[in-house]
Amino acid sequence: MRRANTHIRGYNQSGVIEMYRGLIVSGLILALFGLFLVITDLYAPLGVSIFGLPISIIGAIMFLVGLIRPEPAPIEPSPGKKFCWYCMEEIDQVAKDCAYCSLEQHNARD
Ligand SMILES: [Zn+2]
Repeated sequence: MRRANTHIRGYNQSGVIEMYRGLIVSGLILALFGLFLVITDLYAPLGVSIFGLPISIIGAIMFLVGLIRPEPAPIEPSPGKKFCWYCMEEIDQVAKDCAYCSLEQHNARD
């Protein structure tokens, strides 16, 4: 039995998820900072809203992008198993046909 999958097991996607969280957090901080500058300008007109407005808009966009982007689903078949190309049920690595939908499987590894 081939164990071509083993090298993938150590790969975790937390780095990618961290990036999304980082985007959300830094976007939120930027938006709040920009908002703070705009509000400050309302009470003490120093002209900082010229910087505050674009900063808060950029921050809001970063925050939204971080929220909207789908986090990659950490799906992985069990050892010696693979997912059916059609119904995504877990089937035998060597199976030619799916046991669930009985459709023929492709040979490609990825
Ligand atoms: Zn199937």
